[in-house]
Amino acid sequence: MKYLTLCYKVAIIVKTMFLYNSRILFKASVVVTISNNMYSYDGNIYIPRGQGDSWTGFLLASAASSAIMGTMPLFSKPFIKQMKKEHINNDLYREALFKSLNISGLKEKGVRIIDTQFTGLDQLVKDSKQIIDKDIKEGINACYVPTQKIVKLNTDKACISGFHELGHAMNNLKGKLSNLLQKCRYPGYTIAGLMATVALFSTPKPKNAPKDIEDHIRDNCGKIAFISMLPTVAEEALASHRGIKLAKKSGLDKSLIKNLKKFYSKALLTYMGNAVVTGLAVFAAAKITEYFTRPKKISVQSSSAPPLFYQEG
Ligand SMILES: [Zn+2]
Repeated sequence: MKYLTLCYKVAIIVKTMFLYNSRILFKASVVVTISNNMYSYDGNIYIPRGQGDSWTGFLLASAASSAIMGTMPLFSKPFIKQMKKEHINNDLYREALFKSLNISGLKEKGVRIIDTQFTGLDQLVKDSKQIIDKDIKEGINACYVPTQKIVKLNTDKACISGFHELGHAMNNLKGKLSNLLQKCRYPGYTIAGLMATVALFSTPKPKNAPKDIEDHIRDNCGKIAFISMLPTVAEEALASHRGIKLAKKSGLDKSLIKNLKKFYSKALLTYMGNAVVTGLAVFAAAKITEYFTRPKKISVQSSSAPPLFYQEG
C-alpha cells in the first residue's frame, strides 16, 4: 500500500503541472473554437472553467480520495486481531507448517522458511519505523519473496500465516496462470496509481461531445483501478486455497483447519477492501474533478454576442 501512496503523491505533482495546461487540452479537443474563450458544440456554446474552479476541484477531489483511502486499515483490522490472538496457538501450527514444506515438493525447488524476529539491536530502536520487516518481526505479517524463494515469518508467533505463504510459493513455482497473476501485482498497482493521476486531470470537453480513447479512460478510471487490482486478489485467494490444502495434507487438526479458513478469509477481506477502496477513491476524485472542470454551457443573446457573465481567469 506504500506503493499506492507513492503513486498518489506522483499524481498530485502531475496534476499540479497539468492545471496550467488544461486550457491547451481543451483547445486541442474536437470542440470547435469560435472565439478566444468560447466554444461551440452541437448548437450550444461553452466556456472553459477558470483556475479557481480547477483548484477547488483539485483540492476537494484530493481530500475526498484521501478520506476514502483512509478507510483501508479498517479492512485489515479483523485479520490483525485474529493474528495476534493466534500467537498463543503458534506451537500447534509450527509442526504442521514445516511438514507442509517437506510434503509440498517446494523444498526440492529451493524454497526455505526464514525465521524473522527482532534482534537485540532491533529492540534498541524498536519504535523507529526504520526497522525492515517490522510487522513480520512482530508476528503480525509474513511474506513470500519470489526472487529469493523464501518465506519470511516469525516462527515463534506467526506460523498460521506460513501455509498461505507456501501457497504463494506454489503459485510462483507450480502454476503458469498463478505465476502470471503474481507477476500482475505491481503492474496492477502501477495502473491503479496512474488512474489516480488520470482522475485528477481536467475534463476538457462538454458533456456528450464525441469521445476519444483518453475520454473513455477518464470516464472509467475508477473501474480500471479496481479491475487492475483483481489479479492480486485472485492470487491471494489461490495462495490461501493451496495453503489450506497443504495444511490438511500435513495432518493439521480439523478444528485448526477451521480456524485457518476463518483467518485466511479475513486476510482476503484486506485485499478485497484495498481493491474496492482504491476504485472508489479514484471514482470519487474523477467525478469531483469533472464537476469542477467540465466546460459550462452558457446562454447568449445572439450567436455573435459575447457571453454575459464570463471573465477569463
Ligand atoms: Zn498473501
